[in-house]
Parts: sequence; C-alpha cells; structure tokens
Amino acid sequence: MILIFFGPPGAGKGTQASLTAKKLNIPHLSTGDILRDKLLEKDSLSMKLKNLMDSGNLVSDDILNEIIVNRLKQPDCQRGFILDGYPRTIFQKIFLINFLESHDLLISKIIELSIDEKIIIQRIKSRSNIENRLDDREEIIKTRMIKYFQETKPLSDYFRSKYPNDYHIVDGNQYIENIQDDIFKILKNDDFKP
Ligand code: AMP
Repeated sequence: MILIFFGPPGAGKGTQASLTAKKLNIPHLSTGDILRDKLLEKDSLSMKLKNLMDSGNLVSDDILNEIIVNRLKQPDCQRGFILDGYPRTIFQKIFLINFLESHDLLISKIIELSIDEKIIIQRIKSRSNIENRLDDREEIIKTRMIKYFQETKPLSDYFRSKYPNDYHIVDGNQYIENIQDDIFKILKNDDFKP
C-alpha cells in the first residue's frame, strides 16, 4: 500500500499520516522529520539545511531524492509506505514516478487535506508553542505558503488528473478524529489487514 499525503503547511498531514501509518502498520516517511533529524548531526551540510528550512525555503531536489531513495530501499518499506512532504517539486515528482515504475510499484491512494488559510495560521501558531520550530513564525509561514502554492499545488493537480479514482480530498478544517474517520473510510477494509 503506497499512500501520498498532500496539503499546505498546517493542514495536519504529519498527524494524519502518522495515525494512518500506525493503523496500516507501514512506515510514515516525513521528509520534514528526516531533515530535522539530519540537523542534529551539526556538520556543514546540516548548517546549510538549517538556514534553508528556518527561512521557509525548500531544500534541493538532489538531497531530497537521495534521502527518499535510500529510505524506500529499506526492508520496512516492502509492504508499503506513506509519503508526507514529498514530492514537493516537479523534479521530485518525476524522480518518484520513475523510481516507482522501475520497481513495479503502484500508488494506491493520494489524500489531499484541504484547509482554510485562517485556520492554517492559528494551527501553526499553536504548534509553534509546543514544538518551537523556527519556521513556524508568522512571516516564515507566508514564505512556506508561497512555496506550497508555487511548487507543490501544481503537483497535486497533476496527481488528481492522473489518478482520478484514487485521489481524495478530505476536509482538514475538522477535529483530528473526524479527519481520521474520513481517511479511514476512504481506505478499504482490506487495507487494514496485518
Ligand atoms: P515539513 O515538516 O514537511 O513542513 O518540512 C519542513 C521543511 O523541510 C520545509 O519547509 C523544507 O525546508 C524542508 N522540506 C521538507 N520536505 C521537503 C521536500 N520534499 N523538498 C524540499 N524541502 C523539503
């Protein structure tokens, strides 16, 4: 089972992808989390990554594609995986599609969380109180939103037209539990087998 989660920053992708991954017993691959782990290494690459991430800009496609390909080759991804935060640019999309095709892998479902802009700011502000992420400051959220609409939204439109039956838009303005219910309804019973 291969799932991709799309949605703007603050839509709840991370939370929902993590809950869904637990339910399906497959890994949740959040490129944001993987990159934040890399920052702990405190080498010259991590300093460059930190500057880009703290300013709300995207990290280069080469770095992301390498991270993803190394992660997808791990044995725990054999039964499937959930992508959260990747692909985010056209080059990442092309790279992913080529990787999947060359490994005879098919995307099972794509879930887009839609959310009102006003709620995004509220959500990210309350998250910043808990997680203390520098990129959750209001002025940086604006850059992240611009990046989302410029780079990532066109990709979700591509997937929507390529996989019309497997592309689902879920209302991300709801409570966590209700969003979760909507997602679980989209997944068939068979998907929950161990
Ligand atoms: P996220 O936790 O998904 O909001 O990601 C936090 C930050 O990590 C982003 O603002 C980017 O700087 C970087 N990042 C995460 N995923 C990607 C990606 N697929 N491509 C480029 N940069 C990424």
